[in-house]
Amino acid sequence: MTNDEATLKAREIASNVLAPAAAANDTAGRFSMEAVTSLGESGLLGLLLPGDVGGAGLGPRAFADVTTTLAEADASVAMVYVMHICATSTIAAARPSDRWTAVLHDIAAGRHLSTLAFSEAGSRSHFWAPISRAQPNGDGVHINAKKSWVTSAGFAQSYVVSALAPKGTGPTDSTLYFVPAGTPGLSVAGPWDGLGLRANASAPVALDDCSVASDAQLTDDGAGFPAMLNVVLPLFNLGTAAVALGLCRAAVAGTASHLTSAKFEHLGQSLGESLPTLRAQLATMQIDTDGLSARIDDLIDHLEKPRETTVLRVLETKAAAGDAAISVTATAMRVCGGAAFSKHLSIERLFRDAHAGAVMAPTGDVLREFIGKSLLGIPLF
Ligand SMILES: Cc1cc2nc3c(=O)[nH]c(=O)nc-3n(C[C@H](O)[C@H](O)[C@H](O)COP(=O)(O)OP(=O)(O)OC[C@H]3O[C@@H](n4cnc5c(N)ncnc54)[C@H](O)[C@@H]3O)c2cc1C
Repeated sequence: MTNDEATLKAREIASNVLAPAAAANDTAGRFSMEAVTSLGESGLLGLLLPGDVGGAGLGPRAFADVTTTLAEADASVAMVYVMHICATSTIAAARPSDRWTAVLHDIAAGRHLSTLAFSEAGSRSHFWAPISRAQPNGDGVHINAKKSWVTSAGFAQSYVVSALAPKGTGPTDSTLYFVPAGTPGLSVAGPWDGLGLRANASAPVALDDCSVASDAQLTDDGAGFPAMLNVVLPLFNLGTAAVALGLCRAAVAGTASHLTSAKFEHLGQSLGESLPTLRAQLATMQIDTDGLSARIDDLIDHLEKPRETTVLRVLETKAAAGDAAISVTATAMRVCGGAAFSKHLSIERLFRDAHAGAVMAPTGDVLREFIGKSLLGIPLF
């Protein structure tokens, strides 16, 4: 599969499966298993996995393009996809074992959706500092944890779970574990009724005395934190920025369509023909959308050719994307006026969905903290 072929498959799924159901799934807060099945059948669940396990072996460019394309139709599904790609990349980077080879084959074959279970009720958005601690138990560990938001909760086949290492001494001495759905003690601990991304089942998950065998340990003890920073963070920040770009593009298209179709019959003109102020605001939305697109291209270039400024770009891009998505969709709400406010258009769903990116950890505020500290030479943690 090439990048273009992957994006084409995403576009077909977006048009045929996501777009027709997005509004109803949003209203009902319904997770789309049809979307996951289509992504699996098309090979997109194994997008970044190597060819020897059946994956497409593609990179950040394909990931961003596929995610943006999905988000233009349904950001809830796009975020499910982002979490899956982050989790599967963590499994692919795990200590080599026959177990991971089998799991990765399943993922590439489209039979396995995964996700991240990092955030905890006790440390909130500071996902790098779990409160839970794995306790030795025979040849493995058992884990008690309150995971506060887990996308695809109850629908994923596995969860990449963080917990402090049994003998860790500091707040970031964590380990990552692979916990399959159905593990005794693992349960969805509440409903998901968010303002936006309502169709992605980001519910709390509890681990009550979950036994995790030693062959399900993804990282060395204490090596969870570097895996979060080096494997998950670049992909997560790129993925959430790509979701933001999809939302911006959908907002521009939806606004342009409304300005073309809605009429002032007494003037014999469409809104767009009649009002220069609306045209100017649409233009600003387009400028911000293309600015975000250029920023994402720059981040991809930095990920493909890592250099001194790569970490800064990883941090900056998610912060800027969150702001752009909120600003572009808020402008769309204003330009489309009462029609948007009364939910006659999909604009208000885009506006609500756009607010998730900035609060998903690392939040926009935390990213600014990190960027400011790094510019001043202050340690981040
Ligand atoms: C739709 C959705 C899906 C999610 N999916 C997942 C998932 O799959 N897996 C997962 O692990 N988590 C997930 N999360 C959780 C998410 O990553 C955050 O942990 C969560 O949104 C943090 O919310 P909070 O209000 O508890 O954070 P708080 O830590 O209470 O933050 C409150 C405010 O304080 C600010 N703040 C916090 N710390 C600092 C700081 N150091 N400097 C400056 N400002 C700061 C924040 O920016 C925020 O504005 C999801 C969240 C959402 C909304």
